[in-house]
Amino acid sequence: MKLLRSIAGWFRQKYSYYSQPKFNFEVVENDPESIPPQKIFIIKEGVQPDSLIFKCPCGCGADIHLNLLKDAKPRWHFKINKRGNISIYPSVRRTKGCQSHFYLSNGRVDWV
Ligand SMILES: [Zn+2]
Repeated sequence: MKLLRSIAGWFRQKYSYYSQPKFNFEVVENDPESIPPQKIFIIKEGVQPDSLIFKCPCGCGADIHLNLLKDAKPRWHFKINKRGNISIYPSVRRTKGCQSHFYLSNGRVDWV
C-alpha cells in the first residue's frame, strides 16, 4: 500500500508539472504596468536585456525581478529554445514572503 501511494503521488506530481500552463514571454522597453500570471517580461532598454519581471508562480501575487546585467549581483540568465519556451537559470529563490524556490525550464515551473 505504501508503494502504491508513492506511485500515485509520483504520477500526481508529474501530471501537475505537465498540465500547468506554460510561461510565455514578451520583450518590452519599460516595466509593465500590470503583470499577468504565466508571463515573463524581458526588459530591454538598450542592446542587452536588463531584467526579467514576472509574477511569483506560487500565487502569492508578488512580483519577481531578476537582474540580467553582468555588473550587478545576483545575476540570472535566460534562454529561449526553438519552440519559444523560456528557461531561467540558476533557480529562483525568494528570501522574503512565500520563500518559493523553483526552476523555470522550458516555460514550466519545477519546484525545488
Ligand atoms: Zn510566491
